[in-house]
Amino acid sequence: MNVFDCIVIGGGPSGLSASLTLGRARREIVLFDDGSNRNRVTHESHGFITRDGIKPQEFKEIGLKELENYPSVSYFNTTITEIIKDIGNERFIVKTTDGQECVTEKIILATGIQEVFSIQSVRNYYGKSLFSCPYCDGWELRDKPLIVMAEKEEHALHMAKLIYNWSQDLVVITNGVQLSKEGVTELQKRNIKIKSEPIKNLIGNDGYLQQIEFVSGETIIRSGGFVVPSFYRPNDFAEMLGCEVQENGTVITDGVGRTTQKNIYIAGETEKSGPSSLMISAADGNKAAVSVNTDLTMERF
Ligand SMILES: Cc1cc2nc3c(=O)[nH]c(=O)nc-3n(C[C@H](O)[C@H](O)[C@H](O)COP(=O)(O)OP(=O)(O)OC[C@H]3O[C@@H](n4cnc5c(N)ncnc54)[C@H](O)[C@@H]3O)c2cc1C
Repeated sequence: MNVFDCIVIGGGPSGLSASLTLGRARREIVLFDDGSNRNRVTHESHGFITRDGIKPQEFKEIGLKELENYPSVSYFNTTITEIIKDIGNERFIVKTTDGQECVTEKIILATGIQEVFSIQSVRNYYGKSLFSCPYCDGWELRDKPLIVMAEKEEHALHMAKLIYNWSQDLVVITNGVQLSKEGVTELQKRNIKIKSEPIKNLIGNDGYLQQIEFVSGETIIRSGGFVVPSFYRPNDFAEMLGCEVQENGTVITDGVGRTTQKNIYIAGETEKSGPSSLMISAADGNKAAVSVNTDLTMERF
């Protein structure tokens, strides 16, 4: 069976960038991606120079198209379900949902993260009128009547202060959590309103928020805002392969994608188990790919 130099799992900006760098370094690689990238729910991506406002799908298509210039790169649109470590010869067998098996010397994990919302109906608005990253979508919501939805005081205060830069018409919604006296004073200083009653429902049309209904029956009119979700890695590949992980979920690396396990590299949001951006993730992918190529070169020279 053909042994690949590297398999890249995940074709978001980190995996696409890693694949491009490895293709250009003449490495035999396979990129696997199953289309569950975190920003698939949004219409436009912002802040990536030369691509400000691009549709996420178009971003991915351009990335995949560029890989076609490099004959040593293959791409499959499928899910990796299992990675088996072959300890004897330091290789890995990677299995897909559709029954493919590939053998590789090195692996880059670039599988991203996913969100969890304590209020399920946030999903209906996420990516259209509710967002989690002001640097990504603050400009589009500027000067609008917004909510900041967070259930931890530190998150509520941090996000409200940040969003105040984009809109001063803010209501902080804590879904049943009382903020401290000091927290309330800080927000009231800037005329930011606080609603701490539990939320009953989010009301809107086709992803565009119009009202928040509270359990008390009261409603307020708001056209969008920012939420603070929790995040998780969608698989435990890093742990299963023996990579050391910090208590906060960050996979320990050397800063350029090498994990504590030989031949396993990691890039993008899945490394930190927290949100970043297209630009940062693409840069991470480039760094991890350079580490893979450097290691292959030195090991074989
Ligand atoms: C609503 C929303 C709006 C955003 N807007 C912006 C913006 O405007 N600007 C910006 O810079 N950032 C934005 N982001 C953040 C941006 O999407 C992320 O920072 C970036 O996508 C992270 O890149 P990544 O490569 O680490 O992960 P992802 O882009 O999530 O890619 C991970 C990939 O791994 C694949 N994958 C996962 N598991 C498997 C598996 N087992 N087998 C095969 N494939 C697998 C998935 O299909 C996915 O394509 C936004 C995010 C959201 C949610």
